Amino acid sequence: MESTDGKTYGAIVAGAGPAGCSAALFIANAGNAVLLPDKSHFPREKVCGDAFSGKSIGVMRELALLSEIVKFPHGIVRGVSMFSPNGRSITVPFPKAEGMDFAGYTIRRKDVDSILFQAALAHKNIEVVQGFQVQGLLKDESGAVMGVEGSGADGKKQSFQSRVVIGADGAASAVSRLLKLPPSPVEHVYSAVRGYYSGISGLTENIELYFIDGVLPGYLWIFPMGNGIANVGVGILSSDLQKGRKHPAVVLKDAIANHPAISSRFKEAKLEGGIAGWSIPNGSFRKQCHGNGWVLVGDAASLVDPFSGEGVGNALSSGKFAAMAINRALSQNPGTMPLSADSLAGYSKEVDLKLRPEMENSYKLQRLSRFRFLLNLFIGKAASKPQARQIIVDMFASDEGKKKVESPLTYLRLLLP
Ligand SMILES: Cc1cc2nc3c(=O)[nH]c(=O)nc-3n(C[C@H](O)[C@H](O)[C@H](O)COP(=O)(O)OP(=O)(O)OC[C@H]3O[C@@H](n4cnc5c(N)ncnc54)[C@H](O)[C@@H]3O)c2cc1C
Repeated sequence: MESTDGKTYGAIVAGAGPAGCSAALFIANAGNAVLLPDKSHFPREKVCGDAFSGKSIGVMRELALLSEIVKFPHGIVRGVSMFSPNGRSITVPFPKAEGMDFAGYTIRRKDVDSILFQAALAHKNIEVVQGFQVQGLLKDESGAVMGVEGSGADGKKQSFQSRVVIGADGAASAVSRLLKLPPSPVEHVYSAVRGYYSGISGLTENIELYFIDGVLPGYLWIFPMGNGIANVGVGILSSDLQKGRKHPAVVLKDAIANHPAISSRFKEAKLEGGIAGWSIPNGSFRKQCHGNGWVLVGDAASLVDPFSGEGVGNALSSGKFAAMAINRALSQNPGTMPLSADSLAGYSKEVDLKLRPEMENSYKLQRLSRFRFLLNLFIGKAASKPQARQIIVDMFASDEGKKKVESPLTYLRLLLP
């Protein structure tokens, strides 16, 4: 079988964000031919909080791209300051990233995505098509996916064939829609906005999370970018917005003008550029991740951490896990097109094993964070009681630590003097 340009690819990866580039690079590194179309031209902006965790650092290291990060403006993240609705605060260190003296970076997504994209562009086994929007899926008589169709920057329609299609096209995934998969329900999606501000006083190497009224279980964040600029944003569950809560952009402006702990630090602050928003599909919704001839990765697969809103680490990791399963399936089933769901099932198993347990625990934390009094109790006690502070340190360090926070026993202990 041949595509309109006369070639059959091992894999077509729709979308060249972190999930797509990770998948494309790991597949291409195994010697397989990859087509990587993206509707944008790089470098391109991506609305994000720009926090780059230890998990993301690990995959960048595996791709031999970690050393590229420091060539761009970036910040160092050592810990987190958390502010309760009643104004108490606690600062705790994050666990250090493997092989590093700190926990993570802050770096603009335009730059991170450019690092990944340039690596894909330079790879001999990857053909990149910028400005190509995937609009349809090619299917065989059984409905299995065997390629994509769409239009390029010149508006010309084109189709390409492959043994597997990877939907890496983000929160509004066209591939997911074309597969007729249900979108993530609103109670599993954050609506979030962010802007870049200069001149905020008191920035450190800790990220800041403000659990403020009208936002819970979401939060307002201030993420210092290391150059006197901070990424400042708000995320609110889309289901809460539907119930009439204020839009995150309104909450952000209100807080900067009036919130006692925030407004005083913004007296000299200036918004650099505009406020922009996008949605965050959480892993609390379990989405089908593979089928006959296709897999979904990153936001297209709804894999964002439901408590922190961190999605880049799981995007990079899911891209890698998909690539491992696809490389295996391509070599074990020579000539088979499209690859069967059975041969791709290892990908979903890996997501279940390596990513879901953390997302499930984070979902429990997210549900607890809806309760103002629990946040006040927890952060208030942690500010004065070393044992309570340690519970928060452990919460960020491991799944076991997260489970401790979910235990009613923990709250009983906190209530004791
Ligand atoms: C306000 C906000 C703050 C966030 N903060 C953080 C944070 O601090 N840290 C963190 O880790 N995560 C954060 N996230 C989540 C993070 O941005 C996502 O999880 C991450 O971008 C997912 O990567 P991805 O590759 O799956 O998708 P994307 O980064 O969205 O990439 C998808 C790519 O697909 C392309 N595409 C889309 N449709 C098509 C099509 N039809 N055809 C071809 N190409 C297409 C797009 O152009 C894009 O390049 C935040 C999200 C938001 C909205």
